[in-house]
Amino acid sequence: MILILHEGTTEQELGALTGLIEAAGAVPRTSHSVAGLRIAVRGIAGKDADALAATLGMHPAVAGVLRLSVPYVLVSREFAPAGTPVRVPLPGGDVVFGGTEVVLIAGPCAVETSEQLVGAAAAARDAGARLLRGGAFKPRTSPYSFQGLEEEGLKLLAEARDETGLGIVTEVVDPRDVELVAGYADMLQVGARNMQNFSLLRELGGCGKPVMLKRGPGNTVDEWLMSAEYIADAGGDQIVLCERGIRTFESATRATLDLASVPVVQRKCRFPVIVDPSHASGDYHYVVPLALAAVAVGADGVMIEVHPDPGQALSDGNQSLTPARIQVLGRELRAVAEAVRRRIG
Ligand code: PEP
Ligand code: MN
Repeated sequence: MILILHEGTTEQELGALTGLIEAAGAVPRTSHSVAGLRIAVRGIAGKDADALAATLGMHPAVAGVLRLSVPYVLVSREFAPAGTPVRVPLPGGDVVFGGTEVVLIAGPCAVETSEQLVGAAAAARDAGARLLRGGAFKPRTSPYSFQGLEEEGLKLLAEARDETGLGIVTEVVDPRDVELVAGYADMLQVGARNMQNFSLLRELGGCGKPVMLKRGPGNTVDEWLMSAEYIADAGGDQIVLCERGIRTFESATRATLDLASVPVVQRKCRFPVIVDPSHASGDYHYVVPLALAAVAVGADGVMIEVHPDPGQALSDGNQSLTPARIQVLGRELRAVAEAVRRRIG
């Protein structure tokens, strides 16, 4: 349940409410947003929740009690109706998801060499990207495929950040590597295959960096939001959701891009949502139109794979844009963003 508090609620009243919630065996979490002060109450169900809701509803500081029909509360839109922007702090100015900017993230699938990364980063920056993506730890379908350069790749990403000013987004696949990756990256990515790796999600909740949570190819929106709830429950309050396509009977594209999930997430969840048309389509021919559609439907960002020489890429070359193609994408994205009263870069 969510408690809506009256304007001007005092610290004393807040303390009294927190005491009542804890005495009932539940856990309170307070949020101050544009909509005012709210308390999320979790860890209580059934008759006990009904009784607590009745008690809290009578408290003079409480303007209303919202009983949620969904099992997530901390990430719910009701907890912060105006939304919770996600801020990636950078020396040249913070990148903010969930504001007027549509954030372009671009870079190679995997970090391969310094030249490859610098080439991709320059193309990304010129196209209007604010963040550079690139995998140092690669979750591959086959154990015999290129698994990533690991810490060496993280070092190359940090060098590319110094050269370009772009922030770094990179995937972490193992809870034991969270601290290492957080030491280099500005935002940590949870890959689609790890969406329900709950020990990884909990570890990320306490890492102190923004987290990008990809949707699992076989997961519903509600399951995806429950995974975000794991991160929030572990203390994370900076989560960006990333739609990257789901598995359906259609085989013309690698996955089926569920663009409907963007407005659905925006209605159900307080965190920003972005779209990855590269992994959704698996084919560079479709990346530009799908990216434009994502911005039109209201996504807070798009993430695009780019490689200086896609034919030589060690992973996902077929879906990677060339430096020339991503410039075209950048120009077209600007036009669509403007049409929906937003901006790129
Ligand atoms: C990626 O973005 O590098 C990636 C592996 O994508 P996904 O987890 O969506 O398959
Ligand atoms: Mn990839």
